[in-house]
Amino acid sequence: MGKIEILPTHIANKIAAGEVVERPASAVKELLENAIDADATQITISIEQGGTKKIQVVDNGCGMDKEDLQKCISRHATSKVKSEEDLEKIKSMGFRGEALSSIAAVSKIRIKSKLSEETSGHQLTSEGGKIKSIEPIGIPPGTSVTVKDLFYNVPARKKFLKTPRTEFRHISEIVTDNALSFTDIAFKLVHNGREIFNLAKSASSDSSNLRNRELRIKELLGGSLSDNLLPLFFDHHHLKIEGFVTKPQAATERAQHQYIFVNQRRVHDKTVLGAVRKAYGTLLPTKSYPPFLIFLKMPYDFVDVNVHPRKEEVKFAQPDFIFRSVKEAVAKALAKNDLTYQKTDGAFRRQQFSPKTPPARGVPELDSEAEEPQRYLKRVLPWETGELDSPSREADILQIHNLYLIKETAGGIAILDQHAAHERILYEQLLEDFKEEKAQRSVQPLLVAETIELAPPDAEILKDNLEVFDKTGFEITLFGKNSFKVDAVPTILKDRHAASLISEIIADLKDNRAPRDVDQKDLRTISFLACRSAVKAGDSLTPEERRAIVNNLEQTKTKYTCPHGRPAKVEISLKELKKMFKRH
Ligand code: ADP
Ligand code: MG
Repeated sequence: MGKIEILPTHIANKIAAGEVVERPASAVKELLENAIDADATQITISIEQGGTKKIQVVDNGCGMDKEDLQKCISRHATSKVKSEEDLEKIKSMGFRGEALSSIAAVSKIRIKSKLSEETSGHQLTSEGGKIKSIEPIGIPPGTSVTVKDLFYNVPARKKFLKTPRTEFRHISEIVTDNALSFTDIAFKLVHNGREIFNLAKSASSDSSNLRNRELRIKELLGGSLSDNLLPLFFDHHHLKIEGFVTKPQAATERAQHQYIFVNQRRVHDKTVLGAVRKAYGTLLPTKSYPPFLIFLKMPYDFVDVNVHPRKEEVKFAQPDFIFRSVKEAVAKALAKNDLTYQKTDGAFRRQQFSPKTPPARGVPELDSEAEEPQRYLKRVLPWETGELDSPSREADILQIHNLYLIKETAGGIAILDQHAAHERILYEQLLEDFKEEKAQRSVQPLLVAETIELAPPDAEILKDNLEVFDKTGFEITLFGKNSFKVDAVPTILKDRHAASLISEIIADLKDNRAPRDVDQKDLRTISFLACRSAVKAGDSLTPEERRAIVNNLEQTKTKYTCPHGRPAKVEISLKELKKMFKRH
C-alpha cells in the first residue's frame, strides 16, 4: 500500500497560514486589504496587546450575505478571481483566497457582515477554522472581523512573537502604508483603547491629488519630512509616476520612509530603489538614504503581483522602462528645486534653546509641533515659493578658520565648505573633460616630465585606471615594468605636484572596493582626483581664490554637495537669523 495521503483541510490550512500570517501585522494587512477591496470609505482598526490578544477591523464596505459569510473562511474562497485570465490582470488588493482561511485556522474569529440593501446581517464564529455558529444579527452595513488569540493553536509560532509593543509597531506600519496610499479612505487606529490616529478621508475623492497626499504624509510621517518634499511627475500613456522625493538634507543613515507603491500596493522593489539612488547620484554620500514616496500607476497586466505569498513584491513586465522612467522623474524633480542645505527652524530650536524647565514626564514637549496644524494652513508649500537665491552685490568673501567661506546673499548668508565646494567644481570640470576626451579639454604640458616608480600592486592599479587619467587630461605612459612618465596634466591641476597627486589617488583607490559598474568606476577615480586636487581645510586662500570658488560653484550643475554627497554650501535665511536674535 502506498504511503501518500492527502492532508486533511484543517492541517493544510494551518500550513498555508504559516506563509500568509507571519505575525499579527500580516493578519491586519490582509483584513485591511479586504476592507479596501470592499470599497470601504471608513476603516477602524482596534488592536489589543500588539494584536496577540485582539485584532478588529471594521469597515463600511459592500458586506457579505449569509452564503458568502459561510464560504469566506474556506480555503481558495474568493470573489475576486474567477478565471485564469483574471490572474493576468489583478485589480484588487487580494486575490489568493487564502487570507481569511489562514487567519481563521490559527485563531478564534468572529465576522459580522451586512449588505447595505438587506435589513439584517449575520454573525459567524469559528475556532481553529471550524465554524461554531452562524446567526442573524442587527448591524450597520459593512463588515467587522474580530480575531482573538492569534496562534493559540500554534505554540511554535507564538513563541517567536516579539513584545506587544514591537508587534504593534509592525501593525502601525502596515496601516500607515495603506493610509498613505488610499487618501480617499478614512482610517482610525486604536491600541489598547488609545487612539493612535484618526484620519479623515480627503475632501476630493481623487486619491492621487498631491495636496491630499501631502496632508496624509504630514499626519503620518511628521512635519519635518513634509517640509523637505519635492513633488514628482511623469506621464506616459502606460505609466504614471507621481509622489515626492526629498531634499538631500532630509536623508538619514538608516533606510526609512522609502515608500514604493505600484497600483496603490506598497511593495519592496530593487528596480525603483536603484533608479532613485542613481538619480540622486553624487548628491548623497553612500549609506545615506533619502526618504521618498513614489506612486506608480500602470495597466494591471504590466505587472505581476502574484510572486510573493504576502504580496510584498511584484514583477514588472518591462523593468528597464520602469528604471529609466523613475530615474528621469526623480532627476527632474531634483533639478527643478533649490537643494541648498538650509539651517532650519526646528533643528535650531531643538539644538540650541532647551526649554528652561524640562517638561514634566509623560507630558509631550510643546515645541514647534504644537503650532503645526495652524502653520500648515497658511504655509506656502516649498515648491511654490520660487524663492531662489539671486547673487547679491559683489561683497568681500570672508574666510574663517581657513575652512569656511562666508558671503552675503539676497536672502541671508551662505557658508561654503572650501574643500567640498572646490571638490565639486573640479569634479565637474574633470568630468566634462572626460566626456569630451582630447578634443576640447585644456592640457598643460609639463616642462620637465615627471617619473613615478610604483610598487607592483600600485602599478597595477594605475594601469587599470590609465584610461580615466588619459581622458581627463593627464598624459601618462608606462615605461619599464612599474615606472610611469607624466608629460602633461589637466590645466586646472597645473599647480599641483603630479607625481604625489597620482600616488594619493592610487592610495584612495586601494582603500575602496571597486564598484561593479564600469561607469561608477570611472566616476570614482574622477572624484578621488577632484578630492586630492581641491584646496584643503586649513589652506589659506587669497580673495581671488575665494571669489573663484564661490562663483564657480554657482556654475556647477550640482552645486549643493561635494561629489561624495557632503554639503558644499549651507544657507541661513534672514528670517532664521531674526529668530535667533529674537527680533520679532
Ligand atoms: P481574497 O481577498 O484573496 O479574495 P480572502 O480570504 O481575504 O481572499 O477573502 C475571501 C473573500 O471574502 C473575499 O474574496 C471577499 O469576497 C470576502 N470578504 C472578505 N473580507 C471582506 C470584507 N471586509 N468585506 C466584504 N467581503 C469580504
Ligand atoms: Mg483578502
